[in-house]
Amino acid sequence: PTMAHPQALLVLENFIGGKFVPCSSYIDSYNPSTGDVYCRVPDSGKEEVEAAVKAAKDAFPVWSSKSPLERSQILNKLADLIEHDLEAFAQAESKDQGKTITFARTVDIPRAVHNFRFFASSILHHVTECTEMPTMGCVHYTSRAPVGVAGLISPWNLPLYLLTWKIAPAIACGNTVVAKPSEMTSVTAWMMCKLLEKAGVPPGVVNVVFGTGAKAGEALVCHPDVPLISFTGSTLTAQRITERSAPHCKRLSLELGGKNPAIVFDDADLSQCIPTTVRSSFANQGEICLCTSRIFVQRGIYSEFLKRFVAEAKKWKTGNPSDPTVDVGALISKEHLEKVRNYVKKAQAEGARVLCGEGVDPLALPPGNQKGYFMLPTVIAEVKDESCCMQEEIFGPVTCVVAFDTEEEVIKRANGVKYGLAATVWSGNVGRVHRVAHRLQSGLVWTNCWLVRDLNLPFGGMKASGIGREGAKDSYEFFTEVKTITIKH
Ligand code: NAD
Repeated sequence: PTMAHPQALLVLENFIGGKFVPCSSYIDSYNPSTGDVYCRVPDSGKEEVEAAVKAAKDAFPVWSSKSPLERSQILNKLADLIEHDLEAFAQAESKDQGKTITFARTVDIPRAVHNFRFFASSILHHVTECTEMPTMGCVHYTSRAPVGVAGLISPWNLPLYLLTWKIAPAIACGNTVVAKPSEMTSVTAWMMCKLLEKAGVPPGVVNVVFGTGAKAGEALVCHPDVPLISFTGSTLTAQRITERSAPHCKRLSLELGGKNPAIVFDDADLSQCIPTTVRSSFANQGEICLCTSRIFVQRGIYSEFLKRFVAEAKKWKTGNPSDPTVDVGALISKEHLEKVRNYVKKAQAEGARVLCGEGVDPLALPPGNQKGYFMLPTVIAEVKDESCCMQEEIFGPVTCVVAFDTEEEVIKRANGVKYGLAATVWSGNVGRVHRVAHRLQSGLVWTNCWLVRDLNLPFGGMKASGIGREGAKDSYEFFTEVKTITIKH
């Protein structure tokens, strides 16, 4: 395959035991905004995973015996180094993923930096439990220790952001890791590897193996020396990972898809709600697991909401992701764009109304982006709750708006999907937002805002949206093994 490509292609290498190692075969990676192959990603399999797990296992005794403070200093150093190269990382993320440069600059890379700083700090502040049993003359306490080699598998939508959300807590707790980013977005992980030595991360503590889920991902999931797997991706892949890891009884953290509702009551402040809900529907091309895709609006304000919402959505500019004035970049791949478009077609065939975007408005693209995977923000109304557009995760710039009458009714309808990741409630009535938030089947509920996160608190989904939570305490618990010790005096 090497001869088929011009020299100028970026060629990635696996990072194993502190060294970059070439691979015997490669996969093409596309620039979604032009449709051109621009990078070659190692097509790793069992052999590469085996070498990476061995390196991680060898590095474990020394890394796990370092004090939390020593590890914390290294994580902070790594954060500084990524921040120093923020612009280069943002450019790479935008080119590799199709996301806008503005989103990469303001969300993806700053958050990757923050992930390291956050866990560098939080690891210093954990306390374990202790109880006394005076009548037995005993005290009990718990101690926590790192588990070993952690397998980390991440998706393509927020590449470095989500990968570092796993690497940071895993190594802060004293584990060593083998990470496998998505084969479609591997570049920023590879760039991060170049900074590890300078940050003081010893060889073998962070290993990155690039390749597909079916080959590299499964080899990692099936490896007997990897006792825990932290996975973010689709529900379908999570089922496969659960099956493949079952013979080893592995510890799993699964952060999966969503079909997130926004509920807009008639006393909502629409001047806040509308721009935020447009953002929650279309940010990062709608390719965020937390994006809103079902908007329930109380009947009294339904037509006003629709009118204002569509007008706001039309303000979002779609085009070359490297243009800082652009709001919507390219979708991840040709296949994904086709899948997202098909949902709009299906909705139309069922009698729903497409109010703006796909098939309704013209999409004008710069000459260099004609072959890119672009699509306009699309708003669909009058969709039935049982329609696939209201039930399945679309993961693109498509949102459905429907009317409701009562609180009771909307809770039932909002809960009427297999997913349960994030919900948004808009109302000026404090009693109501609490009441509704408690009854929604959702791991996260935002009221009168969206995507405001405190990393201290649990993140994760219910139902088909996942198993387990991540956050300061939750990640610490996931990435450590607890022991209860009883002392009789
Ligand atoms: P995906 O499940 O196709 O792939 C995710 C990762 O798993 C990739 O690295 C892939 O190579 C790997 N993989 C695929 N098959 C595998 C297998 N059999 N064994 C091991 N690894 C395998 O997901 P995607 O398309 O990359 O990402 C989009 C999905 O991720 C959406 O469903 C989205 O909602 C979800 N997501 C969830 C969260 C969250 O925190 N809940 C965050 C972001 C994305």
